Amino acid sequence: MSKQLYLSVIIPIYNEEETILDLRNKLNDVLSPMGERYEIIFVDDGSTDKSFERLNKIKDDNVRIIQFQRNFGKSAALSCGFAAAKGEYLITMDGDLQDDPKEIPRFLDELTKYDMVSGWKFERHDPISKTIPSKFFNKLSRVLTDVHIHDFNCGFKGYRNCVVKNIKVYGELHRYIPALAYWRGYSVSEIKVEHHPRAHGTSKYGIERLLKGFLDLISVTFLVVYKKRPLHVFGSIGLLMGCSGVFICFYLLSLWFRGIKIGDRPLLMLGILLLIMSIQFISIGLIGELITNSRNNDDYIIKYDSYEPEKNH
Ligand code: UDP
Ligand code: MG
Repeated sequence: MSKQLYLSVIIPIYNEEETILDLRNKLNDVLSPMGERYEIIFVDDGSTDKSFERLNKIKDDNVRIIQFQRNFGKSAALSCGFAAAKGEYLITMDGDLQDDPKEIPRFLDELTKYDMVSGWKFERHDPISKTIPSKFFNKLSRVLTDVHIHDFNCGFKGYRNCVVKNIKVYGELHRYIPALAYWRGYSVSEIKVEHHPRAHGTSKYGIERLLKGFLDLISVTFLVVYKKRPLHVFGSIGLLMGCSGVFICFYLLSLWFRGIKIGDRPLLMLGILLLIMSIQFISIGLIGELITNSRNNDDYIIKYDSYEPEKNH
């Protein structure tokens, strides 16, 4: 199957033995009109139940199964699926049947207009302990990333192939794929999708998701906005502290010249602290610059090149 296909559906699977058969049947109802022009890539993320056996039962010419050595996480599974995908369009969806395959044609419609389409679980069937924090989280993500979608964490998403080949998803950054794509210059849209309660098994994420999600939000913002110039971030904080430190020390020096004792003033401690911290911040910025330069990865994407028209997107 090395030919280019029309559609790749990527599904991360971690202990979802009970839904796999049903999921394949539902996908078949929607995808069979495409004949051989589609593939479903199941990435078994180190399941410890019978998921892998079930996947092998449903294996056919349209199904590709990739099994991880151990559980590496959803982002790794998606990243692996992206690298393997041969479709012109890609859909990612969860393997627990909370996402409904019948929405796929709507994603494909929208992908004729946009590079990436994110699902929005408008009527969510999850416990309140998930939905309330998620609302707050999405709001914060909108403000920080400038991507105006309502449901960053929705696993149901659609992409043009060029988008996924140009973004790197690792750690738990799968939540921020829309931001990563948007910042690389791709258009991002959103459609409301139907969401079902989880019929079998349990959610793989607990409350710790909130904390990790927040840290990921900071790292993604930092990575994209300041990756190229760490010195701009750390250096400006360092300079600000340095200037305040110098100002305080000069002030104290002038007092000392006038014969006023300054040795026991807390302000002296503050001035010296600010000076030391400013040197530290500037040094961190410089080390950051060194690391960025040594990595030397391309930070641009070519949309058109008259010498290589076959590569144009
Ligand atoms: N998943 C995975 N690796 C993991 C955790 C989850 O591949 O380490 C898969 C899981 O099998 C499911 C999808 O990611 O297909 C979403 O997981 P889950 O339904 O537990 O998340 P929630 O719906 O609670 O956000
Ligand atoms: Mg789920």
